[in-house]
Amino acid sequence: MAGLSNGVKESDMDILLVPIGEVDHKVIETLRFDLSKVFKKKVLMGKEMPRPDDAFNKKRNQYLSTAILKAMMEKKEYGTYGKILGIIDHDLYVPKLNFVFGEASQRVAIISLTRLRYEFYNLPKDQGLFRRRVLTEAVHELGHTYGLKHCGNPHCVMFSSKSLIDTDMKGPAFCERCKKNLPIL
Ligand SMILES: [Zn+2]
Ligand SMILES: [Zn+2]
Repeated sequence: MAGLSNGVKESDMDILLVPIGEVDHKVIETLRFDLSKVFKKKVLMGKEMPRPDDAFNKKRNQYLSTAILKAMMEKKEYGTYGKILGIIDHDLYVPKLNFVFGEASQRVAIISLTRLRYEFYNLPKDQGLFRRRVLTEAVHELGHTYGLKHCGNPHCVMFSSKSLIDTDMKGPAFCERCKKNLPIL
């Protein structure tokens, strides 16, 4: 991995936020601010990466999150960053599920904003809750990149959300046990 050979520990490296296609910059700027408090790391804003066409499933009108992660991993320009978090304003899926809020591998992760808005469910807009949900899903996926598995505590950010209700219940904080397993807090 880049940086490791010259004595830089992976855990010291920055987090890069990358808009995948068009994403409201205010949302990313707010997330950047919120994430830098949670992880106490430098969180940087990257250039927009176009949505990879081959990740799009026309029938489902969704992007295959795994395919976007792969495209992100192939980007050489991301080599100097510790973790890369993609943010997309379109629905995501993996083959066996109707949708996913996000997905992560060891170094790259992605979250979708689509289902974090009340408007998606024909409910009135709530900016405060939306901000908390974006942070929650971002912390969850980044938690995976730092090696954390799912947690059985429904109030821990590493709990696996099946719906927005789960996401709202867990919130962006790690439980004590997950905190202990996280190398960078
Ligand atoms: Zn997860
Ligand atoms: Zn936990």
